[in-house]
Amino acid sequence: MHFENLLDIVLGKREVLSIIECPVCELEEIYYKDPATNKQTGRACSHCNFVQKFDFDSVKS
Ligand SMILES: [Zn+2]
Repeated sequence: MHFENLLDIVLGKREVLSIIECPVCELEEIYYKDPATNKQTGRACSHCNFVQKFDFDSVKS
């Protein structure tokens, strides 16, 4: 599967929030935010084929 398609499925609508150095491959790891809520939605490294969704709503404090 193409990496962008994977991002569409896992993260949905997104805008780039920031780009950092990936701790694994040392290339770009991108943090995304939801354009509607402006909250961080996840991060991804296309070089590692890595996507993580942040699910803050499920965190109980
Ligand atoms: Zn990486």
